[in-house]
Formats: sequence, structure tokens, C-alpha cells
Amino acid sequence: MNNAEIVELAHQNLINTYGCVPLAFVRATGAYLYDADGNRYLDFFCGLAVNNLGHGNPRVVRAIKEQAEKVTHVSNVFHTEPMARLAARLCAHFGDGRVFFCNSGAEANEAALKLARRWGHDRGGGRFEVISTLGSFHGRTFGTLSATGQEKYHIGFQPLVPGFRLVPYDDAGAIEKSVHDETVAILVEPIQGEGGVVMPHGDYLKRLRDLCDRRRLLLIFDEVQTGMGRTGRLFAWQHAGVKPDIMTLAKALGGGLPIGAAIAKAEIAQSFTPGSHGSTFGGNPVSCAAALAVLDALEQDGVLENATQVGAYMLERLRKFGKGCSRVKEVRGLGMMIGIVLKGEAKSAADACIRQRLLVNATADNVLRLLPPLTLTRDEAEAGLAIIERALSAGTTAAG
Ligand code: PLP
Repeated sequence: MNNAEIVELAHQNLINTYGCVPLAFVRATGAYLYDADGNRYLDFFCGLAVNNLGHGNPRVVRAIKEQAEKVTHVSNVFHTEPMARLAARLCAHFGDGRVFFCNSGAEANEAALKLARRWGHDRGGGRFEVISTLGSFHGRTFGTLSATGQEKYHIGFQPLVPGFRLVPYDDAGAIEKSVHDETVAILVEPIQGEGGVVMPHGDYLKRLRDLCDRRRLLLIFDEVQTGMGRTGRLFAWQHAGVKPDIMTLAKALGGGLPIGAAIAKAEIAQSFTPGSHGSTFGGNPVSCAAALAVLDALEQDGVLENATQVGAYMLERLRKFGKGCSRVKEVRGLGMMIGIVLKGEAKSAADACIRQRLLVNATADNVLRLLPPLTLTRDEAEAGLAIIERALSAGTTAAG
């Protein structure tokens, strides 16, 4: 089937929840995707921050094949070696933790929210409320939607789940003022991703940690987008040295296969007991084998170092370019998570890049978001940046 045929078949049969780009991909390798008409695209999108190792990483492909030939599913009524080993590896990185596995970012956050409520319940005193931030994105289930600080996602779904309070991001004072007797936890992204690559300033995360310690609240970091090396460290909180009580992962954890995880300090994790939470597919052995290979690559193949170096180069070059481009307001980011804030809407710039065979996306209306593979070479970075610069320059005089 060619691009047009696949797109048409999809349009006729899928519920229309995604504003899809009319392209269908059939294979991929490294930083490149190939569509059904044989065109090659440089990927600065990575399936929404999933393909952090690029496409077809040999470690990940081998792990998936080998595990698929052994056993693909047993349920959580039994154990598998990949799940046990992945839990141990994640706990070692987190330090004194326990893991709950699920299948997506929303489910990981849902688990974190339920664990926080159960923890509050166990301590008595009727504490259940979670404070989250405006501009955040935590998922589309009713719980995570209620924690998500963007009204556009709430429209038509009210009433939302009670017990959530939204405050401005990057304002520790606002959170402190909102804490009251029923508050049990604070949920934040260390860098807001979908909200436009919004970076908190100064010691924001540290102040939240101090506040949680003083008021006996749980600090939950949603690392679904920032985690697994995206910012140049395995977890974004490691830059600030501020460890959360619960951390959520998904997206890049499975190297392209679906998996999510909520990792909690061991003492907090005790609030979940048999029957209190679960997921049929959670900790699927093929996804866990893939995730183990992802960790191997991140730990042993110099991937984080590359993300730091190439990411810093891209930020620097884009900032220089931005000074001379009237459309660019600000360039911000960390590692391979970069936002080019434009003075107007960003969708036309993203479309212009895609027409020139560079995959990027627009978020928060005016932010062109770059999420390249952490393995991107300097030459690939140059090629992608040249397209972005051309698209933004063209946009200053004529339609991109
Ligand atoms: N949390 C963050 C920070 C995200 O960026 C996303 C997705 O973009 C989610 C949660 C939801 O993840 P999923 O789409 O896997 O449910």
C-alpha cells in the first residue's frame, strides 16, 4: 500500500482523536524513518519522545526477538525474569525503591496518584488532595486528566475527579500557599514537555522537596517525557539532585514497546498491598526485555554523553540563529529536549519542516519542539538544524 492508500484506510476506520499528519511509515533505522512512498525523513520527533535510541537499536531488536521466542505473556499472577531484572535495575538507579509496572504514561501517573491517596489514607487525617501545575500534562485517563493543568483537554469531560488543585508552574510560593489539611502530594514534571518545554528556574524543585519534607507530603515527579536520558541524565531530577518520593516513567523506557512504571520509595510503596492496584499487561516480559536493553545502551554506549554534547551544540546554534530571526522569541531546553518559542503559532513551521523531510512537532501553540534521538550525530544535527533555520527564515517573508 502507498501513503495515500494507508492514510485513506485509516481515516475511514479510526475514531478521529489525533490530528494526524498524512504520512505512513513502513521502516526505520537510526535517526531516519521511511514512508510508504519510499521517502526518507530525519526524525527530531521520536514518536513523541519514545525512540530515544533512534530506530532499530541492535540491542533492543535482539532483546525483543529473543524474548518473543521464549514467552510473551504470563500475567502478574506469575513472575518472569525480565520483569524481576528490570525492577531491580530501576530500583538500583532510583535508590531504595519498589516498582509497579503498567503500559503507558497515564497509567504510571494513575498508579502514582492512587498510591499517594492510599498512603494518605493509611496515615489517617483524611489527606487525599494532589497539587499539580498549570500547563502540565499527565495523561488522558480521568485521574491524570484531572491533574493536567490545561483546560483545553478538560472540555466536555467534566465533572473531573475531585481532589486536585492546580497552581502556576515554577512558583514554589504558590504551591506552599495551596497546601492545606487535605493535601497529600505534589505532582510536577521536572521540565514541562507538552506544555512547551518549560524549564523551572533556580531551586524550584529543591523548594518543593523542602516543602514536602516540612509538611509530610509526597513529591511525585512525572518523568514520562523527561526520563530515560532525554535531558542528558537518566532522570531529569538528577540535574537538580532532588529525589522524589515517587517517579513515573513510560515513553522511552521500552525502546518503542509499550511499558510504564511508577517507582516509589520502599516505605511508601508498602501502602499498595495485593489487590489494591493492577494491570493485566503490566510488566510484559517482551517490553521488560526491551527496557533492559534500553538501560544497557544508556549505561554502556555513551548515549547520555552524546545527548549532552549534541544537545548543547543544538541549543547554542539555535540561540545564535534565534537572535537574527524575527520569528524566534526564545530557545530553551536541556539535553535533547528543545523548545523553539516562536512569536506566532508554530504549526506552520512544523509543517514546513515536515515538507522538507524533517519530523518535528508544534506544542503549546507557539513552541516548535525538538525531541531527536539521543544518538543523533553532529552531521545529522546540522542537517536538521539547516531545515529548521530555512523553514523559520522563509516564514518571515512568505508562507513556510
Ligand atoms: N506525562 C507526561 C509528562 C507526558 O508527556 C505524557 C504524554 O505525552 C504523559 C504523561 C502520558 O503518557 P501516555 O500518552 O503514554 O499515557
